[in-house]
Amino acid sequence: MSETLENLLKETRQFPPPAALAAEANVKADAYAEADADRLAFWERQARRLAWAQDWEQVLDWSNPPFAKWFVGGRLNVAYNCLDRHVEAGLGDRVAIHWEGEPGDTRTITYADLHRMTCQAANALTGLGVTAGDRVAIYLPMIPEAAVAMLACARIGATHSVVFGGFSADALSSRIADASAKVVITADGGFRRGKPSALKPTVDEAVSRSGSVEHVLVVRRTGEEVAWSDRDHWWHETVEQASPEHTAEPFDAEHPLFILYTSGTTAKPKGILHTTGGYLTQTAYTAHAVFDLKPETDVYWCTADIGWVTGHSYIVYGPLANGATQVMYEGTPDTPHKGRVWEIVDRYGVTILYTAPTLIRTMMKWGEDIPAGFDLSSLRLLGSVGEPINPEAWMWYRQHVGRGELPIVDTWWQTETGAIMISPLPGVTATKPGSAMTPLPGISADVVDDQGQSVPNGGGGYLVLREPWPSMLRTIWGDDNRFVETYWSRFDGMYFAGDGAKKDADGHVWLLGRVDDVMLVSGHNISTTEVESALVSHPSVAEAAVVGATDPTTGQAIVAFAIPRGTADVSGDAGEALIADLRNHVAKTLGPIAKPRQIMLVAELPKTRSGKIMRRLLRDVAENRSLGDVTTLQDSSVMELISSGMKGGKSEDE
Ligand code: ATP
Ligand code: MG
Repeated sequence: MSETLENLLKETRQFPPPAALAAEANVKADAYAEADADRLAFWERQARRLAWAQDWEQVLDWSNPPFAKWFVGGRLNVAYNCLDRHVEAGLGDRVAIHWEGEPGDTRTITYADLHRMTCQAANALTGLGVTAGDRVAIYLPMIPEAAVAMLACARIGATHSVVFGGFSADALSSRIADASAKVVITADGGFRRGKPSALKPTVDEAVSRSGSVEHVLVVRRTGEEVAWSDRDHWWHETVEQASPEHTAEPFDAEHPLFILYTSGTTAKPKGILHTTGGYLTQTAYTAHAVFDLKPETDVYWCTADIGWVTGHSYIVYGPLANGATQVMYEGTPDTPHKGRVWEIVDRYGVTILYTAPTLIRTMMKWGEDIPAGFDLSSLRLLGSVGEPINPEAWMWYRQHVGRGELPIVDTWWQTETGAIMISPLPGVTATKPGSAMTPLPGISADVVDDQGQSVPNGGGGYLVLREPWPSMLRTIWGDDNRFVETYWSRFDGMYFAGDGAKKDADGHVWLLGRVDDVMLVSGHNISTTEVESALVSHPSVAEAAVVGATDPTTGQAIVAFAIPRGTADVSGDAGEALIADLRNHVAKTLGPIAKPRQIMLVAELPKTRSGKIMRRLLRDVAENRSLGDVTTLQDSSVMELISSGMKGGKSEDE
């Protein structure tokens, strides 16, 4: 990207917060001014929401940038903050987790239960020789033991590294090796798509390749037969037999809490290191502010997997630090039927739903009749995270899930930022479909040009963070140089997020996708997001991905891949006609410069296991290259289908 990004998409719709929510909101408009007046004092006040065993001496030590220290000298225990203090306050009987397994089995876990389970796991880990500073790998399905394992590590000061349960032995063993994990916590398997999906064999293979692992702790979930060796221990024979008495010892605010590898959309995953005090401060504050979480009455549900940062910050640490009641679901959204998500909302009376654009677009593809078949009247707030949400997907979410009246918080953040950074405040912000709106109080984000100059309203460029924030990554595990290079070298004194963005006429922030994906067409830098959003605004399209492919005349040309909505006719000539119509629709919406050279109708798009579109693979297809690394792909057969369709030069008929 040599210049700033084009701003092509215009959006005029805007939705003020519902009056009742605004009146009762946890955080009101004055928070912005309060944080502006004294940013560090503001974060100190948010840190006071937690229980500290020892006060800090200094809020922020930024004397050796980009290596930050927050709440210097302070000491606290994360598990104590998420569990003990609620139980001590008499809330032991409050439900912490309404868990539902994919086959339909359920568990109701109170704060007292979760506390007991965590103390037992802490004692068992200590019994296996785990001490503060050791690394523990966690490779589990979405069962309550996943949260227990993380909290138990936090409780004894061990650093956890959660690896998504869908990853291969290769991915697992490289992550175990990178962190030199001493213990792995896993299960025989979990339930996915209606059947047991084994995990233990993958762990066996991964562990046999990495020398560091001394013990493997195995939860029995599916009851399937597993191979066994001396280093293996059943969870129910160790953890569940351990003493439920455990006193949480405080750790330094900068003690390493966890390592988490980024999802690998662009490059080799990086082991992002997060620490204790600042991380918990910002996750707790943002859960309170952005989700307007009322622990006494809300039933919150975040559909992310615990293997991603969203699961860390907004299933485990943020909600539990606030004493929230939440839903946790093991399986896939279409097992045994496509209404499973809405059935769960209905059954538990979910009030706050936090999900990803990929799920919303899938629901658009399946059709609005499905959510319409359930009672969603308990919902009062909706959230989105993970990718830019196309304005039309946003509108669909508001209309068909939010009864045309609920606020949507589109939350921009990354594994690296640890917590939400740019988002509406649901009781304050008049939202625009597709915009993450403004940096949260205490956060200093900006959009800059190639020279690092702030772009004017209406301009596009690079998203940066100008000031350190409490939950910021502290480094890349074992690689300080890569940390400095990747995030702090592009612009002097600023954190470079790797995402393109624009400011609209009112100065509101719109995320435009990854800088690496920006297309250079006849000298114009065009974002993938805007062209995708234009495609999704056509009534026949549910989801789209676009890439820039080398072109002899324009430098790069726009090649688009579109998934039709369930109702669209895409067979034969109808498909050709739709393609022609879509090309014109994009040209009309964004201008002729953005007209795709080529559009393919496809049934699926290549996605990472966290559900994000992997454009670099589509670029390989569009340029007729052999495929790059596909190891982080959810379903590699998708690429074969798309490639064969592309070689035929025709759209794919369904
Ligand atoms: P890798 O860094 O390995 O390529 P990743 O960036 O997909 O993986 P995450 O940290 O899970 O890993 O994702 C953060 C990225 O997701 C952001 O940088 C941004 O590109 C995208 N993103 C997250 N939330 C939003 C949002 N609300 N709007 C737009 N983009 C978002
Ligand atoms: Mg990233």
